[in-house]
Amino acid sequence: MTLLRRGEYHAFDADGAPYVYLVPSAGVFRLDDTSAAVLDALGEQDLEPSELVRGLSDRFPVADLRATVEDLLNVRALRLVDRPVEAPVASPPRKRIPLTTLVMNVTSKCNLACTYCYEYGEDKIVEASRKPRFMNEETARQSVDFMFAESGESPMVHLTFFGGETLLNFKVLKSALAYAKERAVTLGKTVDTSLTTNATLLREEIIDWIVENDVGVTVSMDGGREQQDKFRIFSNGMGSYDVVLPNIRMLLERHRRRPVGARVTLTKQNLDVESIYRHLRDELGFWEVGFAPVTTSWQRDYAIQEDGFEAMLGQFQRLADEFLQYALAGKHHGFSNVRDTLEEIHKGMSKAYPCGAGLGLMGVATDGDVALCHRFAGSDSHKIGSVTGGVDRGKQEDFLMKHHIANKTDCSTCWARPLCAGGCYHEAHTRYGASERPNLHYCEWIRRWTDTCLQVYGTLAERRPEYLAQFDG
Ligand code: SF4
Ligand code: SF4
Repeated sequence: MTLLRRGEYHAFDADGAPYVYLVPSAGVFRLDDTSAAVLDALGEQDLEPSELVRGLSDRFPVADLRATVEDLLNVRALRLVDRPVEAPVASPPRKRIPLTTLVMNVTSKCNLACTYCYEYGEDKIVEASRKPRFMNEETARQSVDFMFAESGESPMVHLTFFGGETLLNFKVLKSALAYAKERAVTLGKTVDTSLTTNATLLREEIIDWIVENDVGVTVSMDGGREQQDKFRIFSNGMGSYDVVLPNIRMLLERHRRRPVGARVTLTKQNLDVESIYRHLRDELGFWEVGFAPVTTSWQRDYAIQEDGFEAMLGQFQRLADEFLQYALAGKHHGFSNVRDTLEEIHKGMSKAYPCGAGLGLMGVATDGDVALCHRFAGSDSHKIGSVTGGVDRGKQEDFLMKHHIANKTDCSTCWARPLCAGGCYHEAHTRYGASERPNLHYCEWIRRWTDTCLQVYGTLAERRPEYLAQFDG
């Protein structure tokens, strides 16, 4: 006898309307009254279809109920108990994924000594002393050649400069970008460039170059003076706020063609998300502000503990609500954590891997070694090639097999897995010593945050669907 069982979905409410996030397809659906009643009546029990239909036949026509059960089976919100659920199988992508983003670590040196930095702090994975501190011009050119060679048919590539403090190697940035532009013209491609900086070294000449070359900029900054100077300090202990402030004002004043963003690292001691946002967005004028909890092992003094995650979530939710009100009113809001998740939801992302590391995104170390991403650049155990020798396909495939969501058994029953896929490899490496492990320390947080973003998404779908059209394509 065939029984019906609940399929894999997460139900949520958006502006009073019932919605579901369907895990197998990563689709978002608004339930009509009949579908909502069917899912509700079935709940967690197994029922024969005829029994389910009979139980609701005083409220809905039987033909409608039968058709609805069929539809819900098709989208896998329901399933038949005797039909086994296909377990995902780890397999590398069938086609070679072109490289779309190359992150070039032009230096591993930094002029700040931020206590929590994964590159210098207690959690570092790269033995910097064995690598040159600065990338030289030749390696930078070879990196550009590698980027285009690996980009396959992609008409556009993103070149991102990273550090250490990126601007300590401004000379190489300039020559690498000039070379990348020249090669792009020859190859008939476009190169989009961005950099991340702590803003201590921004000066007129550099800002002129940024503006002239249309370089996207992300500033690593933790908030107002008191917040910034807790951890973002020079090696003599002096805070960096007063140094970066005039530079940032000059950058924001002059660099008008591309939005400039701030990226904040949250720690146990710096968790006042709303006041940081107000300062960076409203007082300084950054176009957007993104927040990430510090990546560290849980024993560190600055690691965010459970109560901290709770406090962070409450503030994220309030800012998400503000984001929604702005979006409904047709105004820009700069909380990029919501925007990024809305885009992933809209695109129906169902990830086999949490990010593009080792696939469409790779990081290059100062000596030209290629790693999964910028955070692993320079780590011998995460090396997957070099800019002169190319990608070691065997290593890449081995990495893709090991890190596939199908191998993260703890994630197999989690409704948030199409968007999370186990989380950042670097975080897992820092936390558990193994990049292939799922980041189980923040699952509850991820699910509640994803639920918040789904509610924002559904409310926009109800009340201002045109807002979501910006994520098409
Ligand atoms: S890491 Fe946690 S939240 Fe993420 S997919 Fe796995 S179980 Fe879900
Ligand atoms: S592994 Fe982590 S740091 Fe690297 S690209 Fe992925 S999410 Fe970002």
